[in-house]
Amino acid sequence: MKAACRKNLRSDEKNGAAAFRLPRSLQKKKEGEAVQKESQRSRSAQKAKETERTEPADRYGGWVADEANRLKGLAQALLLWYDRSARVLPWRSDPTPYRVLVSELMLQQTRVEAVIEAFTRFVTELPDFAALAAADEQTVLKLWQGLGYYSRAKNLHRAARAVAEIYGGELPADYAALRTLPGIGDYTAGAVASIAFGLPHAAVDGNVLRVLARLCCDRGEVSSPAARKKAAALVEALMPKTRCGAFTQALMELGATVCRPTGRPLCESCPVRALCLAEKAGCQQELPVKRPAKPRRVERKTVLLLFCGGRLALQKRGDRGLLAGLYEPLTLEGRRERAEVFAALTALGADLEGAAFTPLGEAAHLFTHVEWRMTGWRVELKTEKGLGDNLVFTTKEERKSGYPIASAYRAYLERAEEGEEAPAT
Ligand code: SF4
Repeated sequence: MKAACRKNLRSDEKNGAAAFRLPRSLQKKKEGEAVQKESQRSRSAQKAKETERTEPADRYGGWVADEANRLKGLAQALLLWYDRSARVLPWRSDPTPYRVLVSELMLQQTRVEAVIEAFTRFVTELPDFAALAAADEQTVLKLWQGLGYYSRAKNLHRAARAVAEIYGGELPADYAALRTLPGIGDYTAGAVASIAFGLPHAAVDGNVLRVLARLCCDRGEVSSPAARKKAAALVEALMPKTRCGAFTQALMELGATVCRPTGRPLCESCPVRALCLAEKAGCQQELPVKRPAKPRRVERKTVLLLFCGGRLALQKRGDRGLLAGLYEPLTLEGRRERAEVFAALTALGADLEGAAFTPLGEAAHLFTHVEWRMTGWRVELKTEKGLGDNLVFTTKEERKSGYPIASAYRAYLERAEEGEEAPAT
């Protein structure tokens, strides 16, 4: 009987026929359960819709919705100002996805003035994803020279290769897909999505955090990922229906030029002054609230500019860690006096017969978490004999065109090159 029932049920599912009937009491129970399930489904769907509509506000206790409502006129005022006052910058004239990505990566933690020249040089030499994907790493690092934070250049290179391989050389117009590319985080994906593709995604950098903290007189600490998410929710709530890219850039531009990171903000020329709570309260310069930065770890180095016949010795740094893959003059750990430099070079196999030692003084270089305090020596060798293959002797011209050298050494290279002789031919 049980087997027959299962057989009938299967037959009903297939044919839709009522070959098998449940007793009336069970039928009623089943119908009741079905009605209950359906109404539960529709309640959940309704709840999901409501959550979707109000989630940003609810997640921040209504703060996003309230502020978005208060700042209703912000986008229009900001766009009008941006159209009149935006700086003319090379990546803005032709914002292709490639140029937007290159400029956004270059601009992170780097001044606009420093980026202008490097950007022009980079996109002239490597004008699209295909060219960048085909370039070798040394060429990419050389074109990046002077901007620092070389991991960005390596990530850009890897991203270009992924774009060439996976997307046929075209950046995907999709935030989630952008986010999967090497080195592209929330900020860069949001900037590229909005500026290059006009999609309504937020790009929250330090400028945007500062502007929002002041506009809303928000005394919350801004360095945490949670603070960035809250700011992104507000930016997306304020995003106009069209011109998303211009809005993204206008917010950043306001932060860079009017609501400035250092010095007094220029509230008298601010297009959104009427909406600014910090300006009303007179506390602009107390905001944003930031966690105090950790002191940098100090490392001492001795930089040796070994010259022979007008050529300077360089060595390549390892593939990992700070300044990975870049070239540098011979560098010893710690601060070494002349006798110690002599001993270290002798241990390396250098022939110091007739060598001349000239002190090049002190220099310092700041990285994000480390400070290098350096002392330098120029050593004029009579012969390259004895020094290992890991040192390459280079002319000034070769260093200019082919060897990416970390800017930490710039002061010494300039000092040493002042006295550089013409290379022996
Ligand atoms: S009014 Fe002043 S503090 Fe407020 S957003 Fe404008 S520049 Fe910044």
